[in-house]
Amino acid sequence: MPREKKTEQRCSFCGRSVKEVNMLLTGLHGYICDECVRSAAEIVAANGTKHGKMGAGKFNTDFKAVPKPKEIKAFLDGYVIGQDEAKKTLAVAVYNHYKRLSQKPSETDDDVEIEKSNIIMVGSTGTGKTLLARTIARLINVPFTIVDATVFTEAGYVGEDIESILTRLLQAADYDEKAAECGIVFIDEIDKIARKGDNPSITRDVSGEGVQQGLLKLLEGSVVNVPPKGGRKHPDQDYIHLDTKNILFICGGAFDGIERKIAQRMNTHVVGYNSVQNTLKIDKDNLIKYIMPQDLKSFGLIPEIIGRMPVLTYLNPLDKEALRRILMEPKNSIIRQYQKIMDMDDVKMVVDNAALDFIVDKAEEYKLGARGLRSIVENILRDALFEIPSSHKREFHLTEEYARTHIDENLSLQ
Ligand code: ADP
Repeated sequence: MPREKKTEQRCSFCGRSVKEVNMLLTGLHGYICDECVRSAAEIVAANGTKHGKMGAGKFNTDFKAVPKPKEIKAFLDGYVIGQDEAKKTLAVAVYNHYKRLSQKPSETDDDVEIEKSNIIMVGSTGTGKTLLARTIARLINVPFTIVDATVFTEAGYVGEDIESILTRLLQAADYDEKAAECGIVFIDEIDKIARKGDNPSITRDVSGEGVQQGLLKLLEGSVVNVPPKGGRKHPDQDYIHLDTKNILFICGGAFDGIERKIAQRMNTHVVGYNSVQNTLKIDKDNLIKYIMPQDLKSFGLIPEIIGRMPVLTYLNPLDKEALRRILMEPKNSIIRQYQKIMDMDDVKMVVDNAALDFIVDKAEEYKLGARGLRSIVENILRDALFEIPSSHKREFHLTEEYARTHIDENLSLQ
């Protein structure tokens, strides 16, 4: 059979011969040169960004089959321990939010337009606020991003512009604009932008009230010009116009000291005829569960912001029992993760209850809460994880004694 001459191989797109290009890739029915590959990639990228096609299909944008509140809660139960109140509130809010998005415009002709309900969660750090928001976003399969409210400043000041929240959401959505417009943004440390006193400041409060005002625009739903690459606005940069109307904002904050405001409010309210009965029923150790929007106002959030986050819920502090369950129960619990790591080396890891209690006690002692559990376990297991891959042992037994002798007490200094 006569051999095909090299000179006959030409790019099927630009027609250049193999000699004129650096590389010629062979396909089923033709060839393509490196230059054409590059141009094609650019065209796809540019069109993708303009029409929201890049990453399309990866995320959910049609919410006809959104899980019911009970299903959402059941899913959350697999990953988040306790916090039933917050789970229920979130499940209902998220269900209604995505139900609303599944409405066709023709279905809204009856003048009843369901408004968006952003959410605010109050609870100490490390109680599961971020975990809840992240887990819900995974269930609904929408783009999700976490931002820290403390990095933002009013436009014109040093710090990040508020619009950069949307840049991050776009990145999380692989630049699929349609998906980003249905995404979830978790704004952490919202309490840190509270204004310092209860009275509106006379001078400009760069870090607090100004940022709240800026956030307001995003929360209430508006079309925002987003610089796709983030950073400072630049006249040459092509903006992407994102509508925040359907983006669900979930804010979280520890609101340290808000219990005092709650107590003050409740004291003034319980005075009077039913007061003795009322005070008896109050759970003084966990005042956070009585939180009301007016407490957020006393703390320094402006009323407009509070109005834009109509769903308010709280997270309970985690007690020993909860910490212990966090170690073992969630689908990807810390202990299960280490068991899996050891399993890869054919080693079975067995954990004593007393060892779990020891870990929980240390987390409490060091005031690290749930956040500290992982570093404590990692620290205790470091030697074992170093030795096991080269040993012939088939079982590793984590006893209290082992934990006690292998923990590095310097952890408390972290
Ligand atoms: P927050 O946002 O309230 O400060 P996170 O959700 O970031 O706290 O929690 C930090 C870590 O602690 C999580 O990644 C998770 O491992 C663990 N954690 C906290 N609360 C819970 C919980 N209720 N159930 C399971 N794990 C939790």
